[in-house]
Amino acid sequence: MSRALLRWYDENARVMPWRIGPEARQKGTRPDPYCVWLSEVMLQQTTVAAVRDYFRRFTARWPTVDALAAAEDAEVMAEWAGLGYYARARNLLKCARAVVADHGGRFPETAGALRALPGVGPYTAAAVAAIAFDEPATVVDGNVERVMARLFAVATPLPAAKPELTLLAGRLTPRDRPGDHAQAMMDLGATICTPRNPACGICPLSAACRARAQGTATELPAKTPKPAKPTRRGIAFVGIRSDGAALLETRPGRGLLGGMLGWPGGDWAASPPDTEPPADGNWLRAGEARHTFTHFHLLLEVRAARLPQGTIARQGAFVPREAFRPGDLPTVMRKALDVALGAFAAVEGTDDPH
Ligand code: SF4
Repeated sequence: MSRALLRWYDENARVMPWRIGPEARQKGTRPDPYCVWLSEVMLQQTTVAAVRDYFRRFTARWPTVDALAAAEDAEVMAEWAGLGYYARARNLLKCARAVVADHGGRFPETAGALRALPGVGPYTAAAVAAIAFDEPATVVDGNVERVMARLFAVATPLPAAKPELTLLAGRLTPRDRPGDHAQAMMDLGATICTPRNPACGICPLSAACRARAQGTATELPAKTPKPAKPTRRGIAFVGIRSDGAALLETRPGRGLLGGMLGWPGGDWAASPPDTEPPADGNWLRAGEARHTFTHFHLLLEVRAARLPQGTIARQGAFVPREAFRPGDLPTVMRKALDVALGAFAAVEGTDDPH
């Protein structure tokens, strides 16, 4: 099966800015472990299409792990804005600094040693070990789980089936070209053995696939139904001073959006919290911003105010107009800004925030 998969990969490998294609790899070009690691961290929970530009910008600005380790936290968080899951950006920096401080700027070469780095879980460790160093590590993400469940017609629902699927993936991992095998599996899951419409007719593994033989491919992997996501509520105070400065706060380092810039407001909770504005002003109810995180929906009530010069901030601080880039805000905070700007425009007949 692995040989058939590799033959397919040799012809069909996706081209990605961080990837060394099968031909160049067989001629001896080695991937840069920094690029492999960075791309794998970015790709967790995010699509390849979304990651391409972020990856190019990161590697243009910080071309090595040493450069990234020396970067300012706020610059990295701002560059990450929009990719989501901000704990990953914080761990990215911690990991880069550990590679420089403890390993002389060289990534460890085995999955076991990579696991010891901050924020590197079993998937990332295995992916970097396999792709960058050709260790026959078993790389299992959602795509690989789906392919395994179908190939071997595993009826046990996820997540209970995970150990069995990992075992099966391990049995398929070859000692020859394990890095290409891992990438071939990822490509197969992303382009052929897709969740809704698997293209079994052109699949290199179709002859051996049990789900295909049974006609159950689209039913697998079976999943235990997830409980509905709860909704949390909160308030965002979007305050813009008459000189264009924006009243922002850096969120506490721990927790959701930790370390990111945001509009002041209270906690997010099941019932609307009663929160004091961060400064005196004529706060108007601008509307609602909605956002969905991994574990809950967030409904932010947006209050907006034009604040006079000399306003004293009780919470957060004014960021001057020239230093305020809405693109540095996490997505939910940008949505809140859009709601506020819409309200200003309705009241004042302009959409210029300044
Ligand atoms: S034959 Fe179909 S179900 Fe089986 S691995 Fe290939 S695409 Fe997936």
